[in-house]
Amino acid sequence: MMSTNNKFSLFLSFSLLSYIVLVFSFYASASKGIDTHKNSLVTQADLHYQDIVNTRAWNAELGGVFAYQGHYKPNPYLKNNTIKDSNGETLIKINPAWMTRMLSEHSTNDNFKFYLKSNTPVNPINQAKGFYSDALKEISQTVDTKNIKRYQVVENTKTFEYIQGLYLEKACMSCHQKAGDKLGFIRGGIAIQINAKPYFTRADEIWKEFYSTTAIVSILFVFLIILVYKFFHHVHDIEILNSTLEEKVKEKASKLKNALEGARLGYWSWDLHTNEYKADERWLFILGLSKEKHNEIIKDWKKWIHPDDLSHVNAIVENAILESNPYVVEFRMKHKNGNYIWIECAGSIIYYDKNSKPVELAGTHQNITQRKELEKESIKNSIYLNTLFDKNPNIIIVTNAEHILKANQAFFKLFSEYDSLDIFLKEHDCICRFFENEDEENFISNVKSKWIGEVFSKEQPIAKIIHNSKIYYFAVQAKKIYEDNNMHYIVTFSDISETYNLKKKFEELSITDPLTGLYNRRYFNKIFTGEINRALRSNQSLTFLIIDIDHFKLYNDNYGHDKGDVLLQALAEQFKASLKRSNEFIFRIGGEEFGVIYSGLSKEESMAHAQEICDSIADMKIEHDYSYPLKILTVSIGHFYATKGDLLQGNQIFHNADQALYFAKENGRNRVEDYDEVINDRT
Ligand code: GH3
Ligand code: MG
Ligand code: MG
Repeated sequence: MMSTNNKFSLFLSFSLLSYIVLVFSFYASASKGIDTHKNSLVTQADLHYQDIVNTRAWNAELGGVFAYQGHYKPNPYLKNNTIKDSNGETLIKINPAWMTRMLSEHSTNDNFKFYLKSNTPVNPINQAKGFYSDALKEISQTVDTKNIKRYQVVENTKTFEYIQGLYLEKACMSCHQKAGDKLGFIRGGIAIQINAKPYFTRADEIWKEFYSTTAIVSILFVFLIILVYKFFHHVHDIEILNSTLEEKVKEKASKLKNALEGARLGYWSWDLHTNEYKADERWLFILGLSKEKHNEIIKDWKKWIHPDDLSHVNAIVENAILESNPYVVEFRMKHKNGNYIWIECAGSIIYYDKNSKPVELAGTHQNITQRKELEKESIKNSIYLNTLFDKNPNIIIVTNAEHILKANQAFFKLFSEYDSLDIFLKEHDCICRFFENEDEENFISNVKSKWIGEVFSKEQPIAKIIHNSKIYYFAVQAKKIYEDNNMHYIVTFSDISETYNLKKKFEELSITDPLTGLYNRRYFNKIFTGEINRALRSNQSLTFLIIDIDHFKLYNDNYGHDKGDVLLQALAEQFKASLKRSNEFIFRIGGEEFGVIYSGLSKEESMAHAQEICDSIADMKIEHDYSYPLKILTVSIGHFYATKGDLLQGNQIFHNADQALYFAKENGRNRVEDYDEVINDRT
């Protein structure tokens, strides 16, 4: 197919050719008009010439004519040129040459003049000059040339000049033979002058008409070209648009085909007027059929729908047609293998008639058997899941870390005063508000923005919740889930209160001396270094005492081991009573040895406090017959005092206090000895 550009080029060439032909025809017509006018002058001149020649021939045949003398002068070059009539009136002879001259001289027509001209005149007045002379010579030398003409402007007068030869004929010979002239010889010519102004005026008019017509035609032509160019341009644009649209439609169609293929969709269309139902290969393939063998089946498509589904399908389709709506309907269709498969049919009206009534429907078929089975499975699963969620003994919430989105029954068992989640959320924006802050590491805090992060970052995180005066400990676990494009968390709170309390109990037991209830040696070892450093870091003084019962072996020996145990318990109670402040710790570090740590006192205060402890035991006045000289039970105390400047290791502190104790025993028991002092005394 020819492109629009080519069409326009062709049109342009054709138009240009037409234009040239048209202008040329105008030109030819103008030229022809001018020629006609020109020829009319020639014809006019020819006719005049003929008239004159005829008149002259008539005169010659008569051998000259006589006329009364009056108006006409006699011809001076003619001999015997007068006669007398019977009345004695003079008649003059007028020969053709004289007649011609007389006639021309008497002619009153300004637009037309004629003369007799000769290169060898008898009468000098007839002497041919210039153009006439040359023309006569030319005519006499050639056989063909009969007349010669020219147009000329003489003193603003446009004149047509014409000359034709006068040939000597038989009639002429009667006179001319005498002069020696021969028959057929050119003696001279008739020169005719015609006013050529009307001719030139008409020629000017014709040229003006030509130019104006040409100008109008040119303008029309250019206008036409522009118009046609615009039209072609428009057509070209439309063509481009059409081709783009066509390409797009093709592309869309191929995309649609691919999409249908890719989505494994069968395509169908249904003409409601003819009730003709058409479908593609995939439509058949879904039913296990092939185009080659089973194409006929398409016509009876409704027969293949499960009888139980047919009325439902009909109702949906009829309603869609009635309301001009697209529709989607699911139904079962019989597969070639005899089983029913599930089809999802999407349809819509694609053509309407003039009265806006649906004419054609089209749509797709998709095999959704698998999806249907999955749906069934999924419903079952969701029932299981909901049951698992709701009936789970653990509290399970779904949260976006801002507020709770969903909570199970266990949640409402704990927060029983709230009937629904909405009511709970009106009062509390986050379950974390119930978390109690704990010093221990794995506890999650009640800071709203952090708690989810803490659940993920802590190892075995625990939330402590006090609710309705009851303390709960929950092991918390969170799992990220994406729901509705948002990050959500499923958080499980497992109630470990019982286990936690038991664990706490075990932990306590493991650090407690069972006899006295004081911290045991293991706990002492564990926290001793830490406590020293803590005190030193906070620029506090630290005191460490070792208390040892005086002569306890003897006590046991005397009062029995059991009594010794009871005594140990009584002393422990007394120590606890003396060491009540929060930064005071007492440990049973050996059978009858106790370690005491306290901090933040001056040395004097520290010594005084140690002395108080020592005195408090003596003040109990427990009978001990083998303890001399007081015969009551006493203790000896080694005192070591470290200030912020001392950077000591735990074993050094222990050793120093032990040294001081040694001196307390040495120096008589029932006393407090300070390490620094005893060392100074010794050196
Ligand atoms: P000193 O004044 O030098 O400390 O003399 P002491 O007898 O107290 O010292 P020693 O180290 O000789 O004896 C300590 C005794 O403490 C020995 C042991 O029978 C007694 N003992 C240690 N643990 C227990 C206990 O758990 N119960 C009883 N009843 N006695 C204990
Ligand atoms: Mg001892
Ligand atoms: Mg002792």
